Amino acid sequence: MNIVLMGPPGAGKGTQAVRIAEAYGIPHISTGDIFRAAVKAGTPLGAKLQHYMSQGLLVPDEITIHIVHERLQQPDCAPGFLLDGFPRTIDQAVALDKSLADNPIDVVLSIDVPDEELIKRLTGRRVCPSCGATFHVNFNPPQVEGVCDQCGKDLQQRVDDTIDTVKHRLEVYNQQTEPLIAYYQKQNKLVGVDGRQTIDQVFHDIAHHLGARQ
Ligand SMILES: [Zn+2]
Repeated sequence: MNIVLMGPPGAGKGTQAVRIAEAYGIPHISTGDIFRAAVKAGTPLGAKLQHYMSQGLLVPDEITIHIVHERLQQPDCAPGFLLDGFPRTIDQAVALDKSLADNPIDVVLSIDVPDEELIKRLTGRRVCPSCGATFHVNFNPPQVEGVCDQCGKDLQQRVDDTIDTVKHRLEVYNQQTEPLIAYYQKQNKLVGVDGRQTIDQVFHDIAHHLGARQ
């Protein structure tokens, strides 16, 4: 089973990715993880990636496509794989189809959550600058408002989680994914999952869809 998993920031994509990979015994392939591992290993490729990432630039398609192509040739991908964070562009999707040839993508899961709900989820996050504990003003509030349960320090909101940044991140995501959604819809591979549900319910829906496609 070859799966692509899509979802906006805050939709719980990472959590579902881990569960799907475990349940189906397939590797969870995240381009972000591969990039970070290459940088850490200090390979020539890692140095190239660091150049882009340290400047906040997007890694060029040709490098990303090459990395994913190589990764999918590894023996652990024989029973299938779960791609997370790739493809992000039509060019990447076309290159992926070409690279997979006669072993194509079976299904593209899209975890859908309305923007207003994502904004609520993301802007409500608070972190402790001292011990790293995380809270949420609605879903996982600390015992005393604004204070870390673990160590008593004042909680902070990360810059990434402020309202303007969140809105911008969602805009970028929607702009990027709209053409991709259409691309996979045309291939009849797109399956939308209601991401407003609990983690267990979302996974249940995913398993149901995957079962129907097997
Ligand atoms: Zn703390």
